[in-house]
Amino acid sequence: MRFLIIMCCLFLPLHSAFAAVDIALRGKDPVRLEDVYQQDGIPYVAIEDALDVVGLTGHWNSIQHSFRIKTKYGWAEISPASGFLKIADDYYPLKEKPRFIDGRLRVTDSFILNQLAQLTGRSIYFRNLAPDTDNVPEKQSNGLEKLFAFLLNKKVSESGPLIRAVAIDPGHGGLDTGVIASTGYKEKQLNLEVAEKLAKQLKMKLGIPVYLSRDGDYELTIEQRLQPAAKDDVDIWLLLHAQAAFSSEHHGVTLFIRPEENRQNVVAKEGAEENLSDSMLLAKELALALRESAIEVRGIYPSSRLSLGRGNLPTVQIELGFLSNPEELQQLQNRDYQQQIVQALYAGIRQYAKQSKEKIDGVN
Ligand SMILES: [Zn+2]
Repeated sequence: MRFLIIMCCLFLPLHSAFAAVDIALRGKDPVRLEDVYQQDGIPYVAIEDALDVVGLTGHWNSIQHSFRIKTKYGWAEISPASGFLKIADDYYPLKEKPRFIDGRLRVTDSFILNQLAQLTGRSIYFRNLAPDTDNVPEKQSNGLEKLFAFLLNKKVSESGPLIRAVAIDPGHGGLDTGVIASTGYKEKQLNLEVAEKLAKQLKMKLGIPVYLSRDGDYELTIEQRLQPAAKDDVDIWLLLHAQAAFSSEHHGVTLFIRPEENRQNVVAKEGAEENLSDSMLLAKELALALRESAIEVRGIYPSSRLSLGRGNLPTVQIELGFLSNPEELQQLQNRDYQQQIVQALYAGIRQYAKQSKEKIDGVN
């Protein structure tokens, strides 16, 4: 009897449903996989099947209790116990942990579209043929709804200081480490160090309040992350992160804005600066200031990341650099280099504020 109860407990949380997906390397015919399990609305594909489609090989290592994939970067490893993909000494965070379901180790669509695509160096087509939308747990949809209900609107300030307050979100925190470099240096730490330095600059030089979403090493809910940006006097919101790539050559700062604001920029006629979204204007000033202080900027891109929220509050997500590039990692850990970035960000914010002031004065 006791045995039966345990068996039930083992099977209950699976609540899986049969599904099928099509996967293809770009330019090749899609392959249909039917040994797919839906869990919490996410499709789980056996890692061996996915590797087969994209032309990679791998095997289960029962001693290490991990699955090893042969790649041009060396052995890549995933394990049901870890939320990371490990290559050499580097760890790359995964959106979902791999899971053992029905005797096979399985990965999600996110793993196939992101990590596997990077490992093959080619983009991958993925289509879920039977998305099981009934089985998405309550808390997940609620979280998203709440996030989208949180409209971050630009506040109108006719007179007064150029910028009244700035909100900064140092990404990750607590158990959510973000990227972990080969030295053990964690993205969450870099984000916080730069956020605190930038907050100090803004407070000292502009004399305005700066709201941080966290001031220590702890995890935040989505609501807690967005709270500072929703304050009445906040005119700018910056999100700080760092990246990792499998190739150690990638380096430099990358800036992201909301996709809907990017569409507005595409519609705006070329050269007509005044029609650009405020987030784009802010990102442009930040990029200019960083380049002027000899820091490489890879570009300004739209990002559909939910972390950016929704609305028209001038918002830029700043990827400070690549922790997977040994030289850049060393720089990013260096206080002087951090200060150099902070000075440039400060200069960019100041320039943006000056321009928006001129814009308002010009209209009046
Ligand atoms: Zn991050």
